[in-house]
Amino acid sequence: MATIYDAIVIGTGQAGPALAVRLAGAGMKVAIIERRRFGGTCVNNGCIPTKTLIASARAAHVARRAGEYGVIIDGPIAVDMKQVKARKDAVVRRSSEGLEQWLKDAANLTVYEGHARFVAAHQVSVGDHLLEAEKIFINVGGRAAIPALPGLDLVSFFTNSTMMDVDFVPEHLIIVGGSYIGLEFAQMYRRFGSEVTIVEMAPRLIQREDPDVSQAIGTILEAEGVRMRLNAKCIALEKRGENVAVNVDCSAGDKTIVGSHVLIATGRKPNTDDLGLQSTGIALDQRGYIQVDDQLRTNVPDLYALGDCNGRGAFTHTAYNDYEIVAANLLDGDPRRVSDRITAYALFIDPPLGRAGMTEAEVRKSGRKALIGTRPMTRVGRALEKGETQGFMKILVDAETKAILGASLLGIECDEVIHSLLDVMYAKAPYTVIQRAMHIHPTVTELIPTLLGDLKPLE
Ligand SMILES: Cc1cc2nc3c(=O)[nH]c(=O)nc-3n(C[C@H](O)[C@H](O)[C@H](O)COP(=O)(O)OP(=O)(O)OC[C@H]3O[C@@H](n4cnc5c(N)ncnc54)[C@H](O)[C@@H]3O)c2cc1C
Repeated sequence: MATIYDAIVIGTGQAGPALAVRLAGAGMKVAIIERRRFGGTCVNNGCIPTKTLIASARAAHVARRAGEYGVIIDGPIAVDMKQVKARKDAVVRRSSEGLEQWLKDAANLTVYEGHARFVAAHQVSVGDHLLEAEKIFINVGGRAAIPALPGLDLVSFFTNSTMMDVDFVPEHLIIVGGSYIGLEFAQMYRRFGSEVTIVEMAPRLIQREDPDVSQAIGTILEAEGVRMRLNAKCIALEKRGENVAVNVDCSAGDKTIVGSHVLIATGRKPNTDDLGLQSTGIALDQRGYIQVDDQLRTNVPDLYALGDCNGRGAFTHTAYNDYEIVAANLLDGDPRRVSDRITAYALFIDPPLGRAGMTEAEVRKSGRKALIGTRPMTRVGRALEKGETQGFMKILVDAETKAILGASLLGIECDEVIHSLLDVMYAKAPYTVIQRAMHIHPTVTELIPTLLGDLKPLE
């Protein structure tokens, strides 16, 4: 006999918990199911631990540069990885346990721990339990995709999840994949003291960004001693004693790199393959993402998919925004949509890249008349004062409507500065509003009006 609920939420990532508590608060009888650790990827293997580790890596970096600021540290800078990991674990534990407690304390909400599998469109099994509900919300997230590289099955390697157990400094970490996740780990481990080589099949890092952004990021990483093998078309791995050899077969340079450890950071895949979805008739795309409409409904009535598993976003903020959209539609009579949101994210290397809206390449492709402005961080007073002048800021606006089309801000504090543009974009206000605003001195953001005063036609 099934236990009947009004709603079932599968997964406690970035959309599920908030939705479950909101629905329960609205008087519905709700079940939420988690098979592993509360909080999902972001809390346990993603944003929170990586940003905590990045903070330790930055402390080491700043300590090494102390002399430049006139600060004397007597003796070499050493990193105690056991302590670095313990600090990370404590931050993660606080977040995961806090979430678990919040869910378990919520009225009208029952927490099940186990792997959920659909047995029918509105029935889900968890261990010995059978649950049934009219509405089911799938928030199962994703995991590291493991590419079919020759020899990968013969060597041991890390993913972003298993990297979380590392409590030592690898002698030479080879990172296969030069995109967002790979780059954050590359700089982090270089700062911890590892030799780091990034192996990337494409001709440049983070291909989704504009070439000038990829180039500047490459320069920042190389300046710290991260090595890069781009155009590595034929990656293959083999064991070499205690080490791992990665054949990169590039057109120039050494054809093989030997390292002590390998991290595979070549993308993510949705956790939809062991969910019994064949019992529901839910449509997936070719890569296994659940297909949803603009309000996150699947093709099966009353079944919804939120977060990374729907392929409409790959971030914590997109997953949480999915929750807001579903809750607004179901409970507030507010027809919010996925297409209302503006692309926004950051790459948390140091200095960070803050992104909003279109890239320059996308603006060019759209064919509209546009203006562009750029400014190197060497011409930003606050960056000079801090001694952190790497990177540049680039903003694109529509030449006719004066709407901000997009921005790539690579520089100190730019993960925060980007929001000064993002909010104006949401307000659908022209960029000239920013030029009339008085900004605080000395900040990085105060240079945005100056940059906007120097726009040129995009040719
Ligand atoms: C290394 C790394 C760094 C990142 N850094 C950032 C960042 O700085 N900023 C950012 O915005 N995003 C970042 N992300 C992305 C972010 O973590 C994800 O976009 C976000 O966690 C997606 O949330 P979600 O709710 O869709 O899924 P998840 O957080 O993956 O949660 C899904 C949950 O569902 C559970 N589950 C899955 N299948 C079942 C099942 N059958 N039964 C029961 N439970 C199940 C899982 O155990 C998991 O707890 C990062 C990701 C990685 C890997």
